[in-house]
Amino acid sequence: MIDLRSDTVTRPTAAMRAAMLAAEVGDDVYGEDPTVNALQRRLADELGFEAALFVPTGTQSNLLALMSHCERGDEYLVGADAHTYKFEGGGAAVLGSIQPQPIPHDADGSLPLDKVAAAIKPVDPHFARTRVLALENTWHGRVLPLDYLQAAHDFARECGLGLHLDGARLFNAAVACGVPARAIAGHFDSVSVCLSKGLGAPVGSVLVGSAALIDKARRWRKVAGGGWRQAGILAAAGQYALDHHVDRLAEDHRRAARLAGRLREIAGIDLLGQYTNMVFVDVPADRLRELDVHLREAGIRISIGYLPTLRLVTHLDIDDAGIERTAEAFRGFFARG
Ligand SMILES: *Cc1c(COP(=O)(O)O)cnc(C)c1O
Repeated sequence: MIDLRSDTVTRPTAAMRAAMLAAEVGDDVYGEDPTVNALQRRLADELGFEAALFVPTGTQSNLLALMSHCERGDEYLVGADAHTYKFEGGGAAVLGSIQPQPIPHDADGSLPLDKVAAAIKPVDPHFARTRVLALENTWHGRVLPLDYLQAAHDFARECGLGLHLDGARLFNAAVACGVPARAIAGHFDSVSVCLSKGLGAPVGSVLVGSAALIDKARRWRKVAGGGWRQAGILAAAGQYALDHHVDRLAEDHRRAARLAGRLREIAGIDLLGQYTNMVFVDVPADRLRELDVHLREAGIRISIGYLPTLRLVTHLDIDDAGIERTAEAFRGFFARG
């Protein structure tokens, strides 16, 4: 199967499974899992932060970050089409009593700072207290410009806002920019990174921040039911992913570009863009279901949930042959009219 639905579908490689099998473990609620501790130390150091917390999901990581920055009745500013706002069940509002203030994105995924400034509430009993600005990088595959990150950092400092990054795909952004991840992460007060996307670990995200912020996050993780025990088995997969699967993200980007190039030549497909490991195409809405069936028969899975735009995602389990087979299957479908 060539599964282009998401980079979350990757399966742990044999070498990653071997690393998991060999992991030293302990009870992480007692802070005694050496492999978890090593993963946390390593990412904190690598990204330039005091501390880190290993958590089951990116959704929980973002939630804990917001709950650690904010108190009940506070507000966070966030992209109207950001994962944290739109795809996390409203968790910050539901569980944190934190009000979201969505801001429309520019096409490159940035939030225009003049619009952000206009959304900050005055200090007055009528209003929620605006506390944090949350950005996302990459956003739908798009890499936020480095000079924008610098501007957002300066702006947040000036306004006294915390700055959080949903960096589910931080390493895709870093590889695409040709900079170390800390050159991106260093602009923020907290960063959430997914190990379970393109990095290919089966489970896990890491939140990095100050020691004080991570202490709060650890408590909220327990409250959220996320305190875990011999999690070193999973942390070992994360360590393996950071050792072996970061630089290779460039291959995913190259393959996405190649797939985009092939699809662009096919009449009937409107190629909307390719950003890092994602390709976006428009196909006539009335043909999507039929296309899905045709591709399944060719051993290819796509997600048609996002009508009418198709998102095709490259990852660890998609090789060059997979790209060619996919392009041929699309060509076959549109050739038959
Ligand atoms: C996947 C993703 C998350 C959340 O990760 P889960 O582990 O699925 O909860 C957060 N933000 C972005 C941008 C993502 O793509």
